[in-house]
Amino acid sequence: MSSPAWFDLFLFLLLFGLFVYVFVTVRITNLHKVYFLFHFFMMFWPLCQFATDLTQNPQLQLLFVLLSFVSIPMLASGWLLLTVFLTGYANQFRTRRFLLLFVPAALAAAGVILNPYTLFVNPVEGGYIHRVYGPWFWMMVVILVGYFLASLSFLFRALKSSKTLLTIKKQVRITLWGIYVLAAFAFMDVLLNVVFSPWLPIIPGLTSMGILVSDLFFVFVIKRYKVFDLVSIAHEDVINTIPYGMLVLDENESIIEVNKALRFFIDVSVGDLFDMEKFLASVHVEGSSKEFLDRYKQKENTFSQLEIIAQRESERHYILQVSPIVDSYQMPIGHIITFQDVSQERYLVKELSKANQKLEEMALTDSLTDCFNRRYLTEQLTKEVITNIRNRTPFSLILFDIDYFKAINDRYGHVIGDVVLYRTAQTVKQSIRSSDVLARYGGEEFLIYLPHADRRLAEQLAERVREAIESHRVRVGNESEPISVTVSVGGLTVERFDQEQVSDNLEGSLVQLLADVDKALYQAKQKGRNRVEFADRISWHA
Ligand code: GH3
Ligand code: MG
Ligand code: MG
Repeated sequence: MSSPAWFDLFLFLLLFGLFVYVFVTVRITNLHKVYFLFHFFMMFWPLCQFATDLTQNPQLQLLFVLLSFVSIPMLASGWLLLTVFLTGYANQFRTRRFLLLFVPAALAAAGVILNPYTLFVNPVEGGYIHRVYGPWFWMMVVILVGYFLASLSFLFRALKSSKTLLTIKKQVRITLWGIYVLAAFAFMDVLLNVVFSPWLPIIPGLTSMGILVSDLFFVFVIKRYKVFDLVSIAHEDVINTIPYGMLVLDENESIIEVNKALRFFIDVSVGDLFDMEKFLASVHVEGSSKEFLDRYKQKENTFSQLEIIAQRESERHYILQVSPIVDSYQMPIGHIITFQDVSQERYLVKELSKANQKLEEMALTDSLTDCFNRRYLTEQLTKEVITNIRNRTPFSLILFDIDYFKAINDRYGHVIGDVVLYRTAQTVKQSIRSSDVLARYGGEEFLIYLPHADRRLAEQLAERVREAIESHRVRVGNESEPISVTVSVGGLTVERFDQEQVSDNLEGSLVQLLADVDKALYQAKQKGRNRVEFADRISWHA
């Protein structure tokens, strides 16, 4: 052969190498790969048989004969591999055992290519269009029968096994027909064209015919049962049924996949450009989107997320997550963006915090009078007194009790008594400062804490409270006369602090303080009611 012809062959081999490289590294299932390999060798046989008859050059004829016979053991091993995958036994195999499958085929192929001492094939009439086969040919036939039987055993085992799925069994049955047909044609080819060749004319294309017919069975199985599409169909199903919206972008921000859930949310389709900045500008972002966008634009190889609020029929909260897609060299090649609807969660949290706030309020207010309750006042007073001692800040307490309240109850009933209590508390609220704390201390007794109030101011405020109540008239229901009550008020101011430290017995000191105010109130009652009495005590003692 001339050297330019070899150069073309070299180029062919390079192209073939590239094809194999892409084929091996591309992400398709092993079943795809095995089938394509198998199919590739199937095509090889008829092509090389054809090429053999085309040339007069015995050297080339030999080359094509050898090539076509090399493809046969490869076809057989590819076939065995395909049955192993089709029947699902592949999961139980390790890579080394897979390689073992190819050893007899490789041995047979080596014998064919080397054709040592013309053990495989001999020319007739100086060429290879007519040829006689040597013992290695029969050796190869034995190996082929071995592959044939091995694959049959896998297929039958799968058919018999109770673990095999029904659809797989159907596929196996049709596949079996395919290989019966192929075996029949190959057997006829050997019988007619090899064994009886001295007496019979050569019948061309028998094995090629068998290969074609059997492949029709395989193609039928593949199409009928969607053997190859199964994984991608499953992927699509998963993607379309997840509750998240999902977007897959390539490195140019072009959309290559969008699932059903997302199409409810934004109107985008495959091929569109997705402008993250524009999208974020169209929704409300919780917090700042700057850092998120910077990372996104720099195509940083990290996962990031952001919460957005979009106004659809109602307000919807979404967590937007961006995860990079990287190739095997960790180079970014795109993004997956998911949109998780967290509106329900956000709504529940909001409701919960509302309920919590309500509970807290309930825990510190008195339901009848809408003032603080005694527990809250005691807590608050303890905190305040500690800072007051430290800062030597004066403060005062006012305790008042409605005069002859039993009589109100007796005359108007308890319900109206309650209303009077409520109105009295409201009246007091309006006459004290906003910083003062009014609490219901007992039945119809109230305590007011007056921060920063010295004796003079406290006396003024106490008098104001007493007057406000005295002048207030409570109109209730269909009573003709408005009800009016008075209160007796006890007061106490602390404006001297003998020690700087808060003593260990703070609680005891507070009890004493309250007892002293109570005494002042008792004084007011004693001295005729509807009046203010202040305790003499003005210093804090532990
Ligand atoms: P004084 O204080 O002037 O000595 O006479 P008083 O009649 O007010 O006597 P005291 O303070 O001892 O009695 C309080 C009465 O207040 C007793 C109770 O019937 C009534 N009372 C206490 N809590 C409530 C309440 O929540 N609602 C109503 N309607 N009455 C209450
Ligand atoms: Mg009373
Ligand atoms: Mg009382």
